[in-house]
Amino acid sequence: ADTSALLLSRIRDVADYPEPGVMFKDITPLLADPVAFAALTDALAELCVRSGATKVVGLEARGFILAAPVAVRAGLGFIPVRKAGKLPGATLSQAYELEYGSAEIEVHAEDLAAGDRVMVIDDVLATGGTAEASLRLIRRAGAEIAGVAVLMELGFLGGRERLVPALDGAPLEAL
Ligand code: IMP
Repeated sequence: ADTSALLLSRIRDVADYPEPGVMFKDITPLLADPVAFAALTDALAELCVRSGATKVVGLEARGFILAAPVAVRAGLGFIPVRKAGKLPGATLSQAYELEYGSAEIEVHAEDLAAGDRVMVIDDVLATGGTAEASLRLIRRAGAEIAGVAVLMELGFLGGRERLVPALDGAPLEAL
């Protein structure tokens, strides 16, 4: 509870970004505070270890910033899930719907295999579309889902409801 309060105190609300009517949750004050960033890293790493994860996936771009130190802390490999066209090797791709239009994410096929248990990390769960697509991608690579862990969940956008069927019993943790 103390950790949650500390983390929340370091997230800044930015009105009308990236477009009018949106209240953006900006995590840069948290990243700039070494005590808060360490507390977040420790909490996420503990979730990884407790879940029996063997790999940590970060979702581009802010998910990378959180997942990389978590992977090191937990003693696990870090795997980037990137926007289409950014990874140089052979990839698996997954398209998904956005509010307006669609998007596509990719992972290096050789980074995940049967026997891997993957913890997916991102900063913010909004509609859940990105996280849901990442779960499909990870399963298509042959790996299992250990869980999804985010700093913050925007409950009013229904991401949890969208993600639960795709989690197939794995936990969704929001700090
Ligand atoms: P979703 O697919 O709608 O759940 O959107 C989640 C993705 O958008 C994540 O990768 C987040 O980094 C990003 N995102 C959505 N809203 C915010 C926000 O308010 N702050 C920071 N990132 C956000």
